[in-house]
Amino acid sequence: MADKAFETLVVHAGKEFAVPTPGGRPVTVPIDMSVGYAQQSMKALDDVFATGEGYVYVRYGTPTVAAFEHAVAALEAAPEAVAYGSGMAALTGAILGAGAKQGSTVVCARDVYGATIALLRDVLGTMGVEMVLVDITDHKVVAEALAAPAACTLVCETVSNPLLVVADVPALAEIAHQQGATLIVDSTFATPYLYRPYLDGVDYVVHSATKYISGHGDVMAGVIACNSARATDLRNRQKSLGANLGPMEAWLALRGIRTLALRMKQQCASAARVAAWLDADPRVAHVNYPGLAHHAQHELTARLFAGKGFGAMISFDLRNAGRAEVFALMEALQLIAPVTTLGDVYSLMLYPAMASHRGLPAEQRKAIGIGDGLVRLSVGIEAPEDIIADLDQALDSAQGAK
Ligand code: PLP
Repeated sequence: MADKAFETLVVHAGKEFAVPTPGGRPVTVPIDMSVGYAQQSMKALDDVFATGEGYVYVRYGTPTVAAFEHAVAALEAAPEAVAYGSGMAALTGAILGAGAKQGSTVVCARDVYGATIALLRDVLGTMGVEMVLVDITDHKVVAEALAAPAACTLVCETVSNPLLVVADVPALAEIAHQQGATLIVDSTFATPYLYRPYLDGVDYVVHSATKYISGHGDVMAGVIACNSARATDLRNRQKSLGANLGPMEAWLALRGIRTLALRMKQQCASAARVAAWLDADPRVAHVNYPGLAHHAQHELTARLFAGKGFGAMISFDLRNAGRAEVFALMEALQLIAPVTTLGDVYSLMLYPAMASHRGLPAEQRKAIGIGDGLVRLSVGIEAPEDIIADLDQALDSAQGAK
């Protein structure tokens, strides 16, 4: 299967878990809700505990979750994948797996998703893990931060949330490895359709599968793609952490994967059109979208994503606007949902200063470029002209709020 095109992989990956029943072979992977599994003998049960091959108890792994994990590993061209109950649980698993402990330092891109910073600052920080924030585009600064003896890992996003800064992942993997550190990349915005970070040396490829991988706004899930030694370590930790994905959620995420290529193709094409329209509009001060020629990492993104597109996330600053104008814009939306998530078939808008980056002090938000007039748009699969028409009338309302 690994030799097949991505468009074929998304449809078929994991289908080996659709095992034959006495009456026939199901076409889709069944939802296996069993909490426990009986074995033929106590010796066989002992073997499953010892080897991890087979099933004993839901927290140790179940067939539907395994099918989802196999599918993600295939899409990421990684040997294995380990599922979690959320993207944040997966990030926690990866950071702990990378060796974060009392006295160690985690170097992190300064403009990642707000909850990732909160995890490092408010949870791991209280346990003695130091966080050093860096501009991920300044490789000299990244290398210096990683040169600290206690630095164990570098965390960044392929495409950052919400500023759409694109990381030079192959170069960062080299820098991290030269300093004896690992690289964790949250690739939620890129998805394996656009980019497979494992092939460029990334140690832990993390996704909030709540987003594009599932794609329909009806499931929370997380996943890490990595090599087998790291996967075994993560699975062992999972037995104590208990941050597992449930079988129903795994099934929904797997069903979402079946259309990932189709959705991404459409969403990337629509986003390019919407971004160009916003970029030409005088009511908009600045548009962050890697597909625009003026984006600082336009060339890099074209190289990394190999012509498949530039993603479907856009952020933009309203001209001379703050909270009141953004509120007016978002309340005027009729088609685009003003909802705190992304990557769905529906177009969605979020106000980072109030939602995803609410936990950051205002000065820190401003310093990294998340101003009070910035909004984030996740372009869905609706007709792009309808998305543009909704933005057009909502931008008029924002103007009226001045
Ligand atoms: N990573 C990114 C880039 C995100 O945008 C999010 C959530 O918005 C997460 C991780 C966390 O994912 P979850 O909500 O599934 O825990």
